[in-house]
Formats: sequence, structure tokens, C-alpha cells
Amino acid sequence: MQFLRGNKTAFRPPWAIDDAQFAELCSRCSDCLSACKEQIIEKGRGGFPQINFQQGECIFCGDCVEQCQTGALQKNRFEADKAPWMLKVQVSEKCLNFTGVDCRSCGDRCVERAIRFRPQVGGKQKLQLDYELCTGCGACVAPCPVQAINLISVSESRSTEQGSLLEVYA
Ligand code: SF4
Ligand code: SF4
Ligand code: SF4
Repeated sequence: MQFLRGNKTAFRPPWAIDDAQFAELCSRCSDCLSACKEQIIEKGRGGFPQINFQQGECIFCGDCVEQCQTGALQKNRFEADKAPWMLKVQVSEKCLNFTGVDCRSCGDRCVERAIRFRPQVGGKQKLQLDYELCTGCGACVAPCPVQAINLISVSESRSTEQGSLLEVYA
């Protein structure tokens, strides 16, 4: 689930219910923050929890959900495909490879192999995203030296449509 944080997009913890209901049910107890060993949950606006991918990645351990007593985080959300959230990676034109500088930092961190690099004529390489493989874990966000990577919220139908490889550079 995404919401606006100033002019940036921020995200609730995995398995969060819809944002309007979330604000009603979440008591701002911070139990999910304490539960997260990866320390990627922080207090956001109004004291509500949000994910900070600059701190690390979500390993989908579910500890935050287990600790949530109010139902603001619920494991039956997106039960159809057991997805904890509908987040996918997006790479902007700030990516160094776009200017011909060789960088693979994000791909090196992606255990799902959703980010790959294809050699091009002239020594350049092309970054490829596989939307089906991307779990939205965020492991690729912090290592990018130029903040070219964001996560975006996608509908289930869109993620299905985008199941094929997406080439970032035309
Ligand atoms: S699932 Fe685990 S790693 Fe992810 S936010 Fe919750 S406690 Fe942290
Ligand atoms: S969000 Fe996770 S799975 Fe998706 S591309 Fe980044 S590291 Fe890979
Ligand atoms: S880490 Fe950033 S600059 Fe490097 S390849 Fe990935 S998106 Fe491009």
C-alpha cells in the first residue's frame, strides 16, 4: 500500500490493510517497529508506521504481522497469491548505465534475479526487469549510488499484464 509522504511515496508495512481503514485500526503502538529485525519500519507522519527501504530490505518474515494486535496488518490480505504487497521495482533514467557508466549494484543484491544486464554493442549494457520475479523486497533500493530505483504500487492485473521482461532503455 502506498501513500504520499510530502512529495515522495511511502509504504505501509507488508500485509497492511487499505490505507483509510489502516488509519482507523492502527493504534500507533509501534509493536511492528520493535518486531522488525531488519529495522526497516519507522514512525511516519502522525506516528503511523512506514517502510524505509534506505535502511534495508523486507525478508517477508511476517514478524510485524504476528505482533499486530489490532488487525491493521493482516496476513489474509491478497490471499489469492499470498503476496504481502503489490510493490514492484521501477528504474528511472538516472541509472548510470543510461549514460554508459557500468554499474550492477542493484542486480548484485537481487536474489530473485529480477534485475539482469544484457551486453550491448559498444561495451554498454542494458538493464532488464522481470516483473514476475520481483517481490518488491526493496533490496536493490539502497545500494543504488544515484537513487535511480523506486518501488511502485501496482494492481494485481497490471502486474500480471507486465509479466514479461521490461527493458529499461529503449
Ligand atoms: S515482514 Fe519482517 S522484514 Fe518485512 S517489515 Fe515485517 S518484520 Fe520487517
Ligand atoms: S525489489 Fe527485490 S526482487 Fe525486486 S528487483 Fe529489487 S531486489 Fe529484486
Ligand atoms: S544500482 Fe542504480 S545506477 Fe546501478 S545499475 Fe542499478 S539502477 Fe542503475
